Amino acid sequence: MVSRTLIAGGCVMRPGGEWPVGWLLIEDGCIARMGEGAAPDIPGVERIDAWGHYVLPGFIDVHVHGAVGCDTMDGSPESLVKMARFYAQHGTTAFLPTTWTESREKIMAALEAVSEVMNRPTGGAAILGAHMEGPYISEEKRGAQDIRHVRRAGREEALAFLDTGIVRLIALAPEYPENHWLIEEASRRGIVVSVAHTQAGPEDIARAVELGLRQATHTFNAMIGLHHRRPGTVGAVLAEDAIMCELIADGIHVHPLVMKLIVRAKGLDRVILITDAVNPTGLPDGDYKLEDRSIVVKDGRVLLPDGTLAGSTLTMDEGLRQIMRAASLPLAEVWPLTSLNAARQFGLDDHKGMLAEGYDADIVLLDEDYHVRLTMVGGEIVHQA
Ligand SMILES: [Zn+2]
Repeated sequence: MVSRTLIAGGCVMRPGGEWPVGWLLIEDGCIARMGEGAAPDIPGVERIDAWGHYVLPGFIDVHVHGAVGCDTMDGSPESLVKMARFYAQHGTTAFLPTTWTESREKIMAALEAVSEVMNRPTGGAAILGAHMEGPYISEEKRGAQDIRHVRRAGREEALAFLDTGIVRLIALAPEYPENHWLIEEASRRGIVVSVAHTQAGPEDIARAVELGLRQATHTFNAMIGLHHRRPGTVGAVLAEDAIMCELIADGIHVHPLVMKLIVRAKGLDRVILITDAVNPTGLPDGDYKLEDRSIVVKDGRVLLPDGTLAGSTLTMDEGLRQIMRAASLPLAEVWPLTSLNAARQFGLDDHKGMLAEGYDADIVLLDEDYHVRLTMVGGEIVHQA
């Protein structure tokens, strides 16, 4: 029997504006029909009353390492499933599990675990592929990445990673000539290349864009900052239209005022909200491990013993609330930062990232305070508050 669900009465977020009241008919995992105003009478459907709620595309998190004690680097399908279920409680319907700077063996094990669970139902958010953050980064700007494993891109190793066929995003430092071939090769394969953990200046960025660079990893963090006479990495990626900027909108990694400036500089179609969440996310403050290193979580901050920020405990719904406050913008203008922009960047926007007929029924319902009430992945309700 075909399952049919009708979401009726909610305020529906659409590209170019919202429907104050609208409805969606979900059939076979897709949005079969939708419209503005009161829902038509359709017999034999399961009805979800969305009155007083916002209806928008599920969040797509392209940079996220872990949660609830699990990490992409566990190299474990079970860990990825637990993460997927936790993220869905916060409105995420698709994500890219993200690897750290580590040995070849550990990164490869993590990629293999991702390939085992991707494109399969997880009971939570869908796994679309993998994001490799490092290991081809700058020693000086490593942040919380492990310096023992920082290196340049060797052909044999890097091609083995790409040949898994599941890497959708690779974050590297483009200022090293040894990494240039990889920018070209990854771009040629349709993998998005992002500048990360870097000392690249404007000339390095311009050259890398020619080679295929299209994204900036957690903009402002682990890169050279903006000075009015030395624009640094930040000035270059803000000014370069070819680059989409990731932003950790937790008010910790980037001051709320600067969050607003990023949105102003790039425009609402060139910023992708990410969480960069790590394994203690969803757990109480306390002492934890990041691989074999100690970290402490206090008031939502994740810190190495020397005080370096080591990822976040952010969730996508909280990021959305923070960017709305910081930029003083309504949901109708800001929602693409949580889904559509990522979908466009990764070539998924013909079936994900917006509410439209024929699109995947990846949907989140938010209450009037923008807290998640319901998450649907491929037409299945995976979370209900
Ligand atoms: Zn990260």
